[in-house]
Amino acid sequence: MGKLTENFGEMVFNDRAMREKLPSDIYKSLKKTILDGKDLDITVANVVANAMKVWAIEKGATHYTHWFQPLTGITAEKHDSFLQPAGDGTAIEKFSGKNLIKGEPDASSFPSGGLRATFEARGYTAWDPTSYAFIKDDTLCIPTAFCSYGGEMLDKKTPLLRSTEILSDQAVRVLHALGRTEVKRVVPNTGAEQEYFILDKEDYLSRRDLVFTGRTLFGAPAPKGQELDDHYFGVIKPRVKAFMAELDRELWKLGIFAATEHNEAAPSQHELAPVYSVTNLAADHNQLTMEIMKKVADRQGLVCLFHEKPFAGVNGSGKHNNWSIATGLGENLLNPGSNPHENTQFLLFLSAVITAVDEYQDLLRVMVASASNDHRLGAGEAPPAIISIYLGDELTAILDCVESGKKYSPAKLANMQTGVHVLPDFQKDTTDRNRTSPFAFTGNKFEFRMVGSSQSISDANMGLNTMLAEVLSNFADRLEGKKDPIAAARRIIRDAYRDHKRIIFNGNNYSKDWEQEAAARGLSNLRTTADAIPRLADEKNVALFTKMGIFTEAEVQSRCEIMLENYCKVLRIEANTMLDMARRDILPVVAEYTAKRKTEADLLMIPAMINDSEKLKSILADLYDRIDCLAIAVEQAPKVSQTSCQAQFYKDSVLTAMKNLREVADAAEKCIPSDKWPFPTYATLLFGV
Ligand code: ADP
Ligand code: MG
Repeated sequence: MGKLTENFGEMVFNDRAMREKLPSDIYKSLKKTILDGKDLDITVANVVANAMKVWAIEKGATHYTHWFQPLTGITAEKHDSFLQPAGDGTAIEKFSGKNLIKGEPDASSFPSGGLRATFEARGYTAWDPTSYAFIKDDTLCIPTAFCSYGGEMLDKKTPLLRSTEILSDQAVRVLHALGRTEVKRVVPNTGAEQEYFILDKEDYLSRRDLVFTGRTLFGAPAPKGQELDDHYFGVIKPRVKAFMAELDRELWKLGIFAATEHNEAAPSQHELAPVYSVTNLAADHNQLTMEIMKKVADRQGLVCLFHEKPFAGVNGSGKHNNWSIATGLGENLLNPGSNPHENTQFLLFLSAVITAVDEYQDLLRVMVASASNDHRLGAGEAPPAIISIYLGDELTAILDCVESGKKYSPAKLANMQTGVHVLPDFQKDTTDRNRTSPFAFTGNKFEFRMVGSSQSISDANMGLNTMLAEVLSNFADRLEGKKDPIAAARRIIRDAYRDHKRIIFNGNNYSKDWEQEAAARGLSNLRTTADAIPRLADEKNVALFTKMGIFTEAEVQSRCEIMLENYCKVLRIEANTMLDMARRDILPVVAEYTAKRKTEADLLMIPAMINDSEKLKSILADLYDRIDCLAIAVEQAPKVSQTSCQAQFYKDSVLTAMKNLREVADAAEKCIPSDKWPFPTYATLLFGV
């Protein structure tokens, strides 16, 4: 093994470890469970558990935990030691099949959106054998699903797994109808590019807004932002380089293929892209990646920020969700091949995605809705809140021909001539990239760019899988039993394109014109989370989820409630943090300095100084007023009944009052001497590392 590969996955109970540590009949039966979803026998589980325990203790583990993903969006764990009393004052190391399969964390403090009362505390975690167990911080972590005593799902993994199964079922039906009977299953694959900011820890700790909310609630722009484009793909600074190097080592040990790292557009902003994998694993790995990033940064005196918009005026962070579907044999169903216009199977799956995204625009919008992501979507830098698909000229032309019945003649592939002998000439791609589209076809996958950098990717992928499964099930109904399934498929493609082509937009999504055109096309434009979330409980979406067996109606309602509550809570924390900083830090400084300037101006009587001191005085008066306005709004908010109305109130009144307060505080910052300003400025934060 090479120097880089020898430690890869050493902390993972992966296929290699299983083959080494398990008797071959047990290994086979576990593999069957993993691949075919067969139920696991308790005797098998006992043997697996024991082997895991021995393996983990050998690697220094002392505890085990069921690792799960409650609706908070982050991961949870409760550690138990392997040690158990032997009865004679000594201890034995114990970890049984039962411990592996099932856990019972108290569920009462996790959000349930009214699904259960607090006294109904029992919750269960159930082993997900399709995601490998791993060791982190001397603890054997077992990826699990999480549900309540009554069987309601309380996590993000279970719906994702269900959507994966249902997508497979429906895609297989379509493939079988096309004569592809050798295909037994279909899996979604995801590669989530993670954007983040790196700050100096000391600077971070000096700002309560960053500590409590993950973003700056105040801050005048630095003289320099990202306008020179000199950070994007630029040379990585030594401290960041060291961070990335340690991060890679940690991730590789956990079997996570961290592949690409580069600087992003904003100063201090970076990106990490892993190699894609089966979506369930990609979701687990992304959660784990964020956790490890935070820890490694901390060890190096840095802080890693995942907030979607930590700084006003420079780009925010997203999580580009690259998504495709493939057969169990590894054939990517979204690969156009060399003759896409003749590739009916590809065009059919492509049409299914187009149909799904158009039919369920609102749902997709909800899946990425959060208070923090609102600052990013539509901010003229990130994809707008309007969902549309970028297909590129070639595929659009092909589908136009399918619709009109005209013959398609492929465009000639152009050669790129560099005009320099020593540089190679190369073939150009058939279409350019589009960086502004929220949902872009990028060669053999779709890149869903609206997902926020701090969000779990589970919701977005669960939504995509479910929508697609529904459309494929309709396609399968039309295909099954047809004598000429290919001709039937061509008709489906034609109809789908005719009915749903309004969702396709190959132009600039950031332009104002697009917003108008999208409205004319009847596309939905849910600007804020408060507007978007209630759409989740629309009849159509509830019908989709219940028909596909993903959620019950009660579960949909509860998720709505949780998301809205979360929105209100986040804004409340932000508003309170602002008030605290404004009253205790900003006001005293501005008041003292204003008085000082007034005295000086009175003494020296220079007109410019008098002007200046008057200006400061009016800023100070505004500060008082706007603090009051925000305080009143914050006080009123909880009195608004119904969570959806309360969310609207936060959006309209609280958020506006916050914006107004920030405006005047930032104006003050520009007048106060730098050594007097109570916290690190944008210049320090963004250029300090
Ligand atoms: P970029 O969009 O920056 O050019 P890449 O083409 O390298 O990036 O891919 C970005 C991400 O997409 C990576 O995480 C990569 O593993 C993932 N990816 C590539 N192919 C697929 C696929 N077929 N399905 C899902 N994700 C994919
Ligand atoms: Mg990309």
